[in-house]
This record gives sequence, structure tokens and C-alpha cells, in this order.
Amino acid sequence: MTQTNFTDRPQRVAIIANGKYQSKRVASKLFAAFKDDRDFYLSKKDPDIVISIGGDGMLLSAFHMYEKYLDRVRFVGVHTGHLGFYTDYRDFEVDKLIENLKNDKGEKVSYPILKVKITLEDGRIIKGRALNESTVKRIEKTMVTDIFINQVKLERFRGDGISVSTPTGSTAYNKSLGGAVLHPTIEALQLTEIASLNNRIYRTLGSSVIIPKDERIEVVPKRQGLYTIAIDNKTMHFKNVSKIEYCLDSKKISFVSTPSHTSFWERVKDAFIGELDS
Ligand code: NAP
Ligand code: MN
Repeated sequence: MTQTNFTDRPQRVAIIANGKYQSKRVASKLFAAFKDDRDFYLSKKDPDIVISIGGDGMLLSAFHMYEKYLDRVRFVGVHTGHLGFYTDYRDFEVDKLIENLKNDKGEKVSYPILKVKITLEDGRIIKGRALNESTVKRIEKTMVTDIFINQVKLERFRGDGISVSTPTGSTAYNKSLGGAVLHPTIEALQLTEIASLNNRIYRTLGSSVIIPKDERIEVVPKRQGLYTIAIDNKTMHFKNVSKIEYCLDSKKISFVSTPSHTSFWERVKDAFIGELDS
């Protein structure tokens, strides 16, 4: 039986999988389920729903493939390993995913993303969006940058670099740097240091800082040279950066809200703690 859809046209579904055998198996199962269903239209172009099969890293790639269409796209993640942070389904739950999508009424849950603006000394401007985080590093020498929060010159940072993460990115690189884990419904960004030099002469705050939406971070390098700026899984190298600005984007990433949306704290426990002895 075909369910009546919430729109009067078929939902366009893109299925994106990584190269793992398990992911390809899940993808074929989904293809088979939606191929002849008149409520769905399989297409990698202009999708309404993007199903990412793999891990959180795969969802990051899917996000960047479709970041121009954030207003209309909803994502669904299937993890072929553990639970994951951006994934609501495991590979053995494909039938449940198919059923939930057939009963879908267009509901979504949305989380903040980060807006990045890099200004080079020659005036060029590079813009980007991060789902997890953006980092600025100087590899060959100590990075010296002034850090402004909402135009207040907070500190002169010396060290390897800094990271600015989203709430959903707080469990990724940010956590490895000693940053706090932020519930994804908190609309904020987090600034975390990467190996700051702290002694009698050089001083930074040391702890990570959580900044509310509508406030912005500005990183102003004090030395010419080569800077490595990463946005999620993409790394770029720039000579002579004049500033990097960070704030929350006006757009958000949306996920299909299904009965299978796992509690954030379950995910944190599954990823970092595991089962507790009672
Ligand atoms: P990757 O090797 O696939 O990702 C690194 C690991 O981070 C994977 O285990 C991935 O999980 C996990 N991960 C991704 N997003 C996460 C999130 N929001 N919360 C918790 N774990 C998360 O590499 P990639 O595909 O290029 O991904 C780039 C990401 O790697 C960056 O955004 C950064 O967060 C992270 N990274 C971490 C470090 C560090 O911790 N020292 C250094 C560099 C980069 P899956 O196995 O499920 O894909
Ligand atoms: Mn991965």
C-alpha cells in the first residue's frame, strides 16, 4: 500500500554512500525500496532528502555536497559502524528507516552551522560554512594572532592554532582539544585553543569559550606567512591572511525528524563512555 505523501509531488531522495561494502549494501536496499514507489523519486540533483550512509565523516561530506540547498534539504544519516552523532539509524535498521520515510510528514530538527569569512592581504575573500568546526594553524612557526570577540580584543594568542566549533561539532576535534560538549540545541559557537604558549610573558585565557549567537569571533594574524585553515574535512593553505571571521550562519542544517532520533546524551555515552558496570 502506498501512503499519501505530505506534499502533492514525490520527494526527491539522494542516496550517498562511502566505499565500504556494508554501506553499498544499505544503499542497494534503499534503492530497491524507493525505485518503484510513486511518493519518491531517486535523484542526486535537487533532492529534498539526502540519505548519507557511512559515518559522521560521510555526513560531513554529504553536507558539503548539498550546502547550497540548506533551505530545502533534510538529511538522514545511516551509520555502518557505531551509533554516531549525525546518524539516526544503524545499518541493521534500514527497514525502520524505509517505514519512517514512507510515513514522513516533513518534520525536521535543525542545528546551527558556522559561517567562515577569510580575508587575504591582497583583498581576496573566501567564504565557507562548517558543520563541525574550522581551525586556523600555522605549521612552520608559532602562530601569533589577536583574538577579538564582538570587537573586544580579548587576547594575543601564541601557539599552534585555534578551533571554532559548532554545537554538533563539539564532540569532534573540539573535544580532543579539551573543549566542552555542547547540546546541539544550544545556539552558540565555541572557541578552543590548540597548544597555547602560556608563561610569564605570553597569556591567553586557556579555557575554551562559548559565544552566543549574534556575536562574532575575529582572528587577526600578526605575522606574514603560511596559514592552514580547515573547514570540516577540507584543508586550505593561504599566504598572508589579514583576518578570519566566525559567526553562526543564518542557515541551519536540518535532519528528518523521525521516531528514531536518538537522545544526544545516549550518543555521548555510546561514543565516549560505553556500558557502565551496575
Ligand atoms: P574522519 O577520520 O572521518 O573523522 C575523524 C573522526 O571524527 C571519525 O571517527 C568521525 O566519525 C569523527 N567525527 C566526525 N564528526 C564528529 C562529530 N560531530 N562528533 C563526534 N565525532 C565526529 O575524518 P574526516 O571525514 O576528514 O572528518 C573531519 C573531521 O575530523 C573534522 O571535522 C574534525 O572534527 C575531525 N578531526 C579530529 C581531530 C582530532 O580529534 N584530533 C583532528 C583532525 C580532525 P566516523 O567514524 O563516524 O566518521
Ligand atoms: Mn570517518
